[in-house]
Amino acid sequence: MKVPYLDLTAQIRALRPELDAAIARSLDSGAFCLGPEVQQFEKEFAAFCGAAHCIGFNSGTSALHVAMRLLDLGSGDEVITTPYTFIATSWAIVYTGARPVFVDIEEQTMNLDPRRVEAAVTPRTKAILPVHLYGHSCDMDALLEIARRHQLPLVEDAAQAHGARYRGKIVGTFGGTSAFSFYPTKNLGACGEAGALVTNRADLAARARALREHGSSSRYHHDEIGYNYRMEAIQGAVLRVKLTRLAARNVARRRIAHRYHELLRNTPLILPREADYAESVYHLYTVRHPGRDRLKAHLEAHGIGSAIHYPLPLHLQKCFAALGYRPGDFPLAERAARECLSLPMYPELTDEQVAHVAAVIGEFKDW
Ligand SMILES: *Cc1c(COP(=O)(O)O)cnc(C)c1O
Repeated sequence: MKVPYLDLTAQIRALRPELDAAIARSLDSGAFCLGPEVQQFEKEFAAFCGAAHCIGFNSGTSALHVAMRLLDLGSGDEVITTPYTFIATSWAIVYTGARPVFVDIEEQTMNLDPRRVEAAVTPRTKAILPVHLYGHSCDMDALLEIARRHQLPLVEDAAQAHGARYRGKIVGTFGGTSAFSFYPTKNLGACGEAGALVTNRADLAARARALREHGSSSRYHHDEIGYNYRMEAIQGAVLRVKLTRLAARNVARRRIAHRYHELLRNTPLILPREADYAESVYHLYTVRHPGRDRLKAHLEAHGIGSAIHYPLPLHLQKCFAALGYRPGDFPLAERAARECLSLPMYPELTDEQVAHVAAVIGEFKDW
């Protein structure tokens, strides 16, 4: 039995007639950039998040960049964030000229550790940018309390956490703004690149809309330097179809996670565990062990795919050498990077496939 790490074609096959119709509708409308399909999607995704406003973007990175632009950051400003995430989290900060200030993660959730955030606040700190990593919410009350005490805006990177809950409430409206990615591998994925900015604040929503479209609030009048970050109509149409399946797909991911948990509990692996405040949407199911590389090879030899998220924390990336961080600065993030292994996790996985992955891990002796 083969178990690919990811299979994006299965969902497309299942939705093909609906996707064909949605794409045809968008072709026939003659509107290709933004337009009615994107507008409708924005309404529907805002409702899903329980937010007042959603603004569609051409990627999660651009949505996050605009979320940072809304803070009017500049050179010398600092934004506190996690070193253990996809690189795009930090792009949003450096694109504005500000500097990412990394702090280490929590052992259990691998999210930004609120206790360390407090200690990193300086007079130059202008914002906090946590990531709901792997679909598991950050400790929002603790982070918001620090933000309030220091009067700092908080932006959520929710690129991996569509529908994830913190104390029962869907993430994306805890901070002033949040950014989602609809990259095809995400829990809600477009057929191409797409993203969104979500907010409850009408003033921020209006400015984000303008920044997305060349900084213009009316055509050919440009109030500030903007971008071409518009979502394509076809992606809006595709996302509207896929959004109707998101809640059920998140339930299926949680079910698979619980099965993995049952089947792997007696192995030497450290398994992902939800904090008492969190309902994870398991964008990834990432286990940990120092023998990660050997286990990965063993799985591969048995036709099972796996992946490493992420092998090198951001503070040790070459592109950030000038920030002056050193190995050892963030031991928990560095250890997570050495030990993490993401197992196959997508709603189409069968019980047999999950059992097979667990059985092959059970046969592994070279811990
Ligand atoms: C995917 C991702 C992004 C960027 O989204 P794109 O749509 O690929 O630009 C940002 N942050 C995190 C944590 C992500 O996983």
